[in-house]
Amino acid sequence: MPASETLHVFQSTVQPAELSAWQSLLSARQATSELLWLGTTPVIVTSEMAAINVPRNLPRPVASVVCDGNVRLSRRELRPEGTIVTIGPAKIGDGGVAVFAGPCAVESGPQLEAVARAVAEHGVAGLRGGAFKPRTSPYAFQGLRWTGLELLEETRRVTGLPILTEVVDPRHVEGVAEVADALQIGTRNMQNFELLREVGAAGRPVVLKRGFGCTVEETLAAAEYILAAGNDQVILCERGIRTFERATRFTLDISAVALLKQRSHLPVMVDPSHSTGLPKLVEPVALAAVAAGADALLIDVHTQPGEALCDGAQALRVSQFREVMGSLEMLSLGLGRNVSVVMNVDVRDAPVAQSA
Ligand code: PEP
Ligand code: MN
Repeated sequence: MPASETLHVFQSTVQPAELSAWQSLLSARQATSELLWLGTTPVIVTSEMAAINVPRNLPRPVASVVCDGNVRLSRRELRPEGTIVTIGPAKIGDGGVAVFAGPCAVESGPQLEAVARAVAEHGVAGLRGGAFKPRTSPYAFQGLRWTGLELLEETRRVTGLPILTEVVDPRHVEGVAEVADALQIGTRNMQNFELLREVGAAGRPVVLKRGFGCTVEETLAAAEYILAAGNDQVILCERGIRTFERATRFTLDISAVALLKQRSHLPVMVDPSHSTGLPKLVEPVALAAVAAGADALLIDVHTQPGEALCDGAQALRVSQFREVMGSLEMLSLGLGRNVSVVMNVDVRDAPVAQSA
């Protein structure tokens, strides 16, 4: 455990010379100091614990927070109002409920477009879909890779929905970031630290899925890799952890949702599809997640789940998705929140819910 340190948070308007003067002041007191950035907010990390007599000509920090060093920039105290993450036209963390829905994997142009139009019709913030799939077995469908990415790009062009897609390899980050509106780090890669550094530098929003064998603390420490690279556009995603329970695919840790919201200023997403693995549990778990404070949901939807090349058993049919969205609207109304919808989305030819 690193020694305690203090984070001094300054206003974004503070000048570079003033930050240097602060660092000189700390070094004159034999204290270590390091300048970090939370987006455009400067944060000086120092070993100096005592209250400092700030000279008149130096700006005072807006907050000074003592921490243990593993988790710095994601701490709630640094940005009590919370971070808003912008994905295309969608805002996540603004008090609304943002739903990202789509197939587990991009399988073909027609499949992707049909699902995209169907979910758009029911009001979503973005389209999910994996081009690069991290599969347990090397013999399972591995995704259409770069071709899948081209199909995502084309589907965004025809529907207007922003794209969230997974990146699995540091060498792919630049290419995937050229197309995707947001990058997803899958559960199996949450502690792939080179990948986290790369996505931190890629200039795209990131959805960081909790490792299914990782603690809340480890999840926050993983987010630090992205934040420390200068990217404050990070969404934490609870997608279930491994427990002794076998009735569901994983165990959704609902307390982690509330805990992450309390400990971090980053928006929190919940994946009721990968966590439960059961279409019938998606609605109640999605509602519980929103009631616990989740800002966003990630839901697997397929027009023909029985034909899906990946995770079809957990995907909602379009008619089921429509029902989930209806219930979410009702709950959100009661909570004084809105379900965020990307406007001007072209839903022509969307498959009608009843026939899907
Ligand atoms: C996914 O969302 O497609 C996925 C693979 O999820 P996870 O990494 O949570 O298993
Ligand atoms: Mn999946």
